[in-house]
Amino acid sequence: MDKGITPREWQRYERHLALPEITPTSQKHLKQTHILMVGAGGLGAAALPYLAGAGIGYITIMDDDSVDPTNLHRQTIYKESETGQNKATLAADYLGNLNPHCEVTALTERATQEALLQNEELTKFDLILDGSDNFETKLLLNKMSVETKTPLISASVNRFEAMVGIFAGYLQDGACYNCLFPETPQNSCNCNEAGVLGTAAGLAGLYQAHLTLCYLLGIGEVTTGTVLSLNFETFRIQKLQLGKDTSCRTCSGQNSQDATERYETTKIQNEEVALLGRSDLEPDHLIIDVREPYEVEADPIRAALNIPLATLPLKLSDLPKDKMLALVCAANVRSYTGAQMLKEFGFDNVCVLDKARAA
Ligand SMILES: [Zn+2]
Repeated sequence: MDKGITPREWQRYERHLALPEITPTSQKHLKQTHILMVGAGGLGAAALPYLAGAGIGYITIMDDDSVDPTNLHRQTIYKESETGQNKATLAADYLGNLNPHCEVTALTERATQEALLQNEELTKFDLILDGSDNFETKLLLNKMSVETKTPLISASVNRFEAMVGIFAGYLQDGACYNCLFPETPQNSCNCNEAGVLGTAAGLAGLYQAHLTLCYLLGIGEVTTGTVLSLNFETFRIQKLQLGKDTSCRTCSGQNSQDATERYETTKIQNEEVALLGRSDLEPDHLIIDVREPYEVEADPIRAALNIPLATLPLKLSDLPKDKMLALVCAANVRSYTGAQMLKEFGFDNVCVLDKARAA
């Protein structure tokens, strides 16, 4: 499903787009991504606001549990006055208020085998996020991941230790959750029994959200099989790359040739935008300086119209489509982003004016 991004939304993601690693195409990719988050407890309550805030377009939250006063030290999206109300519904409301451009659905049923594996509606996700607090649900989500060929990003926290990993047992060489934990882990008891510092659950949830975004955006060395082992007491973080356990009871038979890495292509390349010098421009080209006014004041560029990148999406109707628009900034990063954004809105004549050759 293609869902466009409105000019006002582009403004919302301006700090993303200021990063060279995130292009307008990758922001659109986030908008078209559909995530299932199972569990809106300590992990989900921390991960979900950042995923919605980042611009994930569709989020389905499944949780049958209701808010309990003992949850509130770590599940900070809920209020004391909401005690007794369903968490999936409350979390969906919270995300809807945080980012109205994100379509959120609440499922208030328990994540049982029947609910997860026999519901056709639940086979269409791009990513499954496991924020559950018990091994049984984790195994079910792993099975769902293998059967529906959907990557699983699983997180768990126990006292000061946490694990976050990306599993894809449906791939020929891909590890599943069962490859890492063939048996019930010894420390698999949940926060209710073991106790947890609120921030440890929050950090684990944030790592899950961060890993999810890095995976979707192709940032860092994050692929299926990446597992982070986190200790929030010793502050030791280890990154492992997990291979398939060929004797795994869930995924060892999985070597389907058609199942390929889902997000291999998410290292999104910039569309072709020419980088020109001042001498390459024609007299009727419109130079747009997308730096902030204070930068322009300190180092003005001759004959340029100043429209800071954040406000560019709101000025589209003022810009001519028949003239070449040459965007310039300090290091050719914001100008590339602006040029990509203009292309998204149907401006075909755009280029980047190289700051080093702009005089
Ligand atoms: Zn496996």
